[in-house]
Amino acid sequence: MTDAAHPLLPAATPLLRDGAAAVQVGGVDSGAGVLIGPDGTGLAALLRGLDGRRAQRAVLSDADRDGLDRASVVRVLDGLRAAGLLLDVDAADLLVADAGPAAAARTAAELPAALSAVGRPVWRARRSAAVVVDGANRVGVPLAAVLAASGVGRVSVRDPGLAAAGDAVVGGLTAADEGRPRALAAADAVRRASPLTDLRPVSDDAADLVVLARPWAASDPLAAAVHRAQVPHLVATVRGEVGIIGPLVVPGVTSCLRCADLHRRDADPRWPRLAAQLTAADPPPSGATVTCLLTAATAALQVLAYLDGTAAPATLGATVELRPPDLRPRLRRWPAHPACGCGAGYENTQGDQAATLAGEPGATPPGVTGSRQGQWAADRAHQLTRDDTATPFRARGPGEEDV
Ligand SMILES: [Zn+2]
Repeated sequence: MTDAAHPLLPAATPLLRDGAAAVQVGGVDSGAGVLIGPDGTGLAALLRGLDGRRAQRAVLSDADRDGLDRASVVRVLDGLRAAGLLLDVDAADLLVADAGPAAAARTAAELPAALSAVGRPVWRARRSAAVVVDGANRVGVPLAAVLAASGVGRVSVRDPGLAAAGDAVVGGLTAADEGRPRALAAADAVRRASPLTDLRPVSDDAADLVVLARPWAASDPLAAAVHRAQVPHLVATVRGEVGIIGPLVVPGVTSCLRCADLHRRDADPRWPRLAAQLTAADPPPSGATVTCLLTAATAALQVLAYLDGTAAPATLGATVELRPPDLRPRLRRWPAHPACGCGAGYENTQGDQAATLAGEPGATPPGVTGSRQGQWAADRAHQLTRDDTATPFRARGPGEEDV
């Protein structure tokens, strides 16, 4: 605990009386609980007041004023903190909170999940981040809305087209948007989810991350401009009925979209001719609502993991595929291609750095490590073989793993 710590007991954490004097904090589901007694009820008001806005020393001063035993209060706070029930809000995070009771209520719902991973100002990182979503479609718009609602400060959706009836999706464009410019309708969708998010357009080189949401953007030569601008980019889309999330490309560090295309070419020399046809025009809206929304949510998790720096996203050098009917995530790896000049290097992306989806946080994502060739890309156990990428078109080939 540092002086900057502002203890937060999330409002949704149960405080339950146990007998006449004891209080149980949490512990009603699979999570940890702490039983405070024998005089727990006297602390209940203090615990409920831990809203993250007061430094711990101020909390203790108030405890003194209320006649509570300071040593007991410190022990309880330490115990709750050790159990993971008490979170510490960094003062820097408080400074970037939007003003007003409605904004505070929205933030209160988002903050605990963001803070639980690390003890540093991840909320500030999100609030100061700018993300571009390229493609106002059935994945891109709900994804943009989720990112904005999750605290990303600036979210710009770009799309030169007009909304069609089939673009409507829960959390995205609506039936009433048909015929409107997609970019404007997408901005409205983001505003519905998060009224105070900055929606001004962002150029690629000013963005922290660009999401490529058009179905075949990964094979589109236009996407190379994002790579040339040295901007991290993530593919998140639905092709036909299948949700595709990844790869997340950190230029010069991880394998790139051209690496993946070269692997496809190796597997089928006709691929460049086929890809040119796929990228020539946007396909019609597709994907079941549940596929589109799960794709958007999975992609949002990858974006937030990257922006927060809390864990290496699973999609570094890999794609997660969500295929009906079960939509169970499967991972397909795309190592750097030796013929690609992107600078990722053939060895650098062969480790299994995936953590976010697998629930194993701890690997260091790019942007946190001083070395952009971070260890996250190298030191995990899974070893790739070239065969992994020789069958990129098979639904359940050896290049896939359950996540
Ligand atoms: Zn490459």
